[in-house]
Amino acid sequence: MYQEVHTENIEARAHAAEVAELLERFRRSAQGPAGVPYEDFCNEVMADFGADLMILAPTGDGDYLHVHYGREIVRYAGGSRMGERVSTMTPQVARFTIACCDRALADGKPSYTIHRSLKTVRVCLWERLVMPATSRDGGRFLLVFSRPLQFREELLTTVLDTSPSGIVALRAIRDHEGHIERTVIITANRRAAALAGCEGEGLLDSDAQVSLPFLAEATVWRRCLYAIELRRTDMIEASFTSDGRTIWLQIAVAPLGDGLVLTITDISDLIVANQTLQSRAATLALEIGRERATRRALSQEIGQREEREQELRRLAETDPLTALLNRRSFTEKAHAAIHACEAAGTDISLIVVDLDHFKAVNDSFGHPAGDAVIRAFADLLLGQVRNERDLVGRFGGEEFAILLPGADLEAALRIALRIQDILASRRLPVSETLALQVSASLGIATHQKRETLSALIERADKALYRAKHDGRRCIRIADPDLSVAA
Ligand code: GH3
Ligand code: MG
Ligand code: MG
Repeated sequence: MYQEVHTENIEARAHAAEVAELLERFRRSAQGPAGVPYEDFCNEVMADFGADLMILAPTGDGDYLHVHYGREIVRYAGGSRMGERVSTMTPQVARFTIACCDRALADGKPSYTIHRSLKTVRVCLWERLVMPATSRDGGRFLLVFSRPLQFREELLTTVLDTSPSGIVALRAIRDHEGHIERTVIITANRRAAALAGCEGEGLLDSDAQVSLPFLAEATVWRRCLYAIELRRTDMIEASFTSDGRTIWLQIAVAPLGDGLVLTITDISDLIVANQTLQSRAATLALEIGRERATRRALSQEIGQREEREQELRRLAETDPLTALLNRRSFTEKAHAAIHACEAAGTDISLIVVDLDHFKAVNDSFGHPAGDAVIRAFADLLLGQVRNERDLVGRFGGEEFAILLPGADLEAALRIALRIQDILASRRLPVSETLALQVSASLGIATHQKRETLSALIERADKALYRAKHDGRRCIRIADPDLSVAA
């Protein structure tokens, strides 16, 4: 329990002017350790100070009896203790009071005390002046001036006046069936008035829903009514417009009697800051989205470009009529294939093919028909290759080359023979109504160690020439010792 006891500088410490006055009188009348003469001092001070005085008499057993209890003290304490022992007070207050009295009696000097009230509802702090006295018959007494030093109301007023939040207390007015008709503002601090846009006392006694613009919204009002009826707290966010500006409030709602206390905090700045943050986040997300889209478009563009480049490369490498490798790209790839086979120590063979008497096809059926035959023959050749490594190229006109990595002479010969067989057994389609039987001459050369591509081609060409010379529709092998007639 809060308490102070002072025997020095009492005038300077005391709040009630009466303390200094009484002290002055005490000093004038005091007679050493006995204190003041009881009867005379009572006569002197009771008329002016009796309402704030209590007189205590020691009981002889460590307690004191209230033999006078001023009416002002009754008023603040909420009841009289006349005739009661001090020990019947709240234990902490009783102990403190008895100790102060004991000391004053022992010293014969007055003391000034402050203590926190534990029971009296309205008073927070009491100040006392404890004055020892002795009666004519030697009885001891204490005259104790007691005044409230601080009221809870003062505390509340200070809290209300200085609070950065608006505080409003409202009371429900009910109809005869007990339904809430309206609520009336019974207390409001300055901040609440400012938030409501009115001056000073303007809010008092007014209808809360009319005076407080933020209660106008139906959902907010309903929640306030629930809080009254259900006697529960709530936290509400509400907004209203004032001078074209939106004001955001956070309202803490607490039930009080048949009404509410609203503690209102302006959170507009917070909301604005939050909105700014959110819009920044949105802008950022938009920018990120845009950047992603740009990146996606870029990578699409790169992809398309790569595809176009691939297509261009493919077009540059292929013969437009047959889609086979053209002579240049065939030669490039053949160089690489020969190097790879030489390095791996594997065989590689070349077949060159020329259609027989092709001029006659053109002459008889026209150039487009000749083209169709060339295309069909190209497809036939492609059908004979065994894997991706085999190269089929058009050397020009109706002359083709097939390079077979990994194929020895025998394997190449098998393929050449199959080409001859197919040509013998099948007409090549020219149009929906026309198919032509053609024949071809073939020359085969198998790569010899350290032989160049052009030397290999030359040997195969010579073999082809021999095939033509030998009557066409036959295969000749570059090694003269192994020539085979079809
Ligand atoms: P052979 O080879 O049996 O000696 O007789 P050939 O008639 O085939 O003789 P040659 O190789 O000299 O003639 C090739 C002919 O092929 C000449 C040309 O008109 C024709 N030719 C060349 N390129 C094309 C082409 O792209 N389309 C068509 N339709 N004809 C072509
Ligand atoms: Mg020919
Ligand atoms: Mg030719």
